[in-house]
Amino acid sequence: MKITEIEIYKLNIPLHQPFVISIGKYDSATNILIKIKTDTDFIGYGECSPLVNLVGETQETEFELAKNFAFVLKGKNPLELEDRLADLEKAIPGNYTIKSAFDMALYDLASKNAGVPLYKFLGGSNNRDIYTDMTVSIDTPEKMASDALKFKNDGFPSIKLKLGSGYPEDVKRVEAVRNAIGYDIPLRIDANQGWDTVTAIKTLNALDKFDIDHCEEPVAKWNNKALKTVRDASPIAIMADESVFDHRDAFRVVAMEACDYINIKLSKSGGINTALKIVAIAESAGIKTQVGCMLESRLGLTALTHLVASRNNIIHFDIDSSLMHSEDPVIGGIKYVGNGKWILPETVGLGAEIDLAFLDKMEKAIV
Ligand SMILES: [Mg+2]
Repeated sequence: MKITEIEIYKLNIPLHQPFVISIGKYDSATNILIKIKTDTDFIGYGECSPLVNLVGETQETEFELAKNFAFVLKGKNPLELEDRLADLEKAIPGNYTIKSAFDMALYDLASKNAGVPLYKFLGGSNNRDIYTDMTVSIDTPEKMASDALKFKNDGFPSIKLKLGSGYPEDVKRVEAVRNAIGYDIPLRIDANQGWDTVTAIKTLNALDKFDIDHCEEPVAKWNNKALKTVRDASPIAIMADESVFDHRDAFRVVAMEACDYINIKLSKSGGINTALKIVAIAESAGIKTQVGCMLESRLGLTALTHLVASRNNIIHFDIDSSLMHSEDPVIGGIKYVGNGKWILPETVGLGAEIDLAFLDKMEKAIV
């Protein structure tokens, strides 16, 4: 098989309401879609979603880099997946978010060529129930409490709260939410690096009485030592998110015993290939993993769900971004059936693509 042409699209999808975390606010998903065409009938689809404050990439930088990567891949065999990903890394290091769209499209082609759904290509089984939590943006305690109550009434099995502005504000937020939703539904929190070590320890201890499952990324992502200090002093389990982009990051935090869980996102890891390595490292250390998302459409989330179905070590699912979108341009892919539940169809490959009429409205480059 040979890559003949690559189409690159700016995939813009408005949100129902702004998505707000401690380090940024997003009014719409500004994603990139990649279509890899070949000398066969198979087309590979890949999507990535740059939350710029988290990943240091923007839709504009990715659109330009994607052209470079397309030139690197053109004319080559997409089934030699390791070699193609190495080609990209050699050409331009870093930039894992845009690379994840290419990785996804290559896995789509490989599994289509094998004639099986992607999860099966990865050695998995589609026999687990996959329920996502739902994320509440950081806001006033009152607004967060009413959003959390709405999501509980919508049937989501767990709620994730965005925090990170400090003590005592974050404690007031969680208290308001628990007062609204009660204690019969799991609650997770995410500080998105918003606290320093002292604030993190103080806040997490104050939050212990509100029955929190785990806390994502309490302190600055570069500060693995502080993460370890916080973990040792926290009554709440700590999940590394932004501090683990790739497998080398995972190895470092695991070796330091700096976290209880690792959150894997394709837009951080550079795609499925490295995500599998992170799962393996976590599993070797006796650590369970979660998958999370940025602002992907159902296409990117379908790839993520295939990953979930391929590895039993992944036990927490934060697969909610497309539920925040006001439009759904995806054809095929995972199906939302309510109450937080996603169904993964048995379609060959990734099994998802974007409606051509929707793509026609988007800025595009062809290499
Ligand atoms: Mg997070």
